[in-house]
Amino acid sequence: MAEPVSFRCISCGQEFSPWSMDYFCPKCGFPAGNLEVLYDYAHVPKAFVKPEKFSLWRYEALLPVGAEYAPPLRAGLTPLYSVPRLAKALGVRALWIKDDTLQPTASCKDRGTAVTVAVARKLGRTALSCASTGNAAASLAGFCAASQLPCYIFVPKAAPAPKISQLVAFGARVFRVDGPYDQAFSLALAASQKFGWYNRSDGLNPIVVEGNKTVAFEIWEELGEVPEAVVVAVGDGAVIAGVCKGFLELAWAGLSERVPKVFGVQASGAAPVVHAFRRFQRGEPILPAEEPAETIADSIRVGKPADVVKAVKYVAETEGDYVAVSDADLVAASLELAREAGIFAEPSGAASLAGLRKLVKEGLVERSYRVVLIVTGSGLKDPQGVLRGLPEPPIIPPDVKALSEVMTRCC
Ligand SMILES: [Zn+2]
Repeated sequence: MAEPVSFRCISCGQEFSPWSMDYFCPKCGFPAGNLEVLYDYAHVPKAFVKPEKFSLWRYEALLPVGAEYAPPLRAGLTPLYSVPRLAKALGVRALWIKDDTLQPTASCKDRGTAVTVAVARKLGRTALSCASTGNAAASLAGFCAASQLPCYIFVPKAAPAPKISQLVAFGARVFRVDGPYDQAFSLALAASQKFGWYNRSDGLNPIVVEGNKTVAFEIWEELGEVPEAVVVAVGDGAVIAGVCKGFLELAWAGLSERVPKVFGVQASGAAPVVHAFRRFQRGEPILPAEEPAETIADSIRVGKPADVVKAVKYVAETEGDYVAVSDADLVAASLELAREAGIFAEPSGAASLAGLRKLVKEGLVERSYRVVLIVTGSGLKDPQGVLRGLPEPPIIPPDVKALSEVMTRCC
């Protein structure tokens, strides 16, 4: 592993010695003072992939903790599918889907969790906590179960039932907060400080981004280079911050000559990061970023994004951009992904596809580009979100004659 050389404040740039603090710069506070974990990029081994490790721990040379602390649950190495038919339909040169629904708890959040739980083990922390719209919580609960560590979870009371079921099944101590995600987040932070829990909340703990960035390493390793554009859904900003940081680190370490443009997609009813990015482009302050949030895509229903500063600055550094899409576009994209590629994503998971269509239309993604879409969460997490408005399959008698009659009517 590479021992980090510093934890740096994303706003004022002050550097702190690694592990001297958990979450944010004391001068700037949260969320302005979120920390970046930095390494000695001049000395990353050229052959930094360890192919004998069939998980994200194959990149431990750019992780803050060694594989000896890895929880006993595999994260990473998800499939990258080539989808030429969809590439043609969208009008780009080549298209791949990075299917992060195939993580152990069925969302991309397992990357950040795996590394954060490993750090908790290294630092000797005896309990973890998390606020989440659902997926990060399910992820932490699963990895804590595998590691036999207690965890305390705070979700908004509106979190979908399948996500709550996952939490309860894993044996987490679950609290449903009577309020939106942002209030669950604040409560988890206050409780963690009071009770000494190591908090995995996205955008608060800088280690989460260190796990999230491994999706970029996998894309680079499998393609043998980097594409021109990568598109991903954005809620609190920690996932896209990781995607960008992974590609930027490959360039800083001399492992890649280019950095792809990274594009973020939000729902039009919950688009504080899109608006913060526009402010940044106009030379105005990124913060405060706080707005009402309403969308059927619960995983990206975030009004007060905790990692907005990184999400804005890193995307700008890759020369990427942000777009917002309607709920109807999110549902249509979920169905298109299921029917064209055989991948069942929750509405937020399919946001990258809806976003790419808009990015091509607006000319932000050029037709000569090779593009990777990251699909972040499984449709089994929120089946009603995808299926609303669709007819239910007919009930028929167990009889082939009756079947034939039904088929002449509907198929
Ligand atoms: Zn600071």
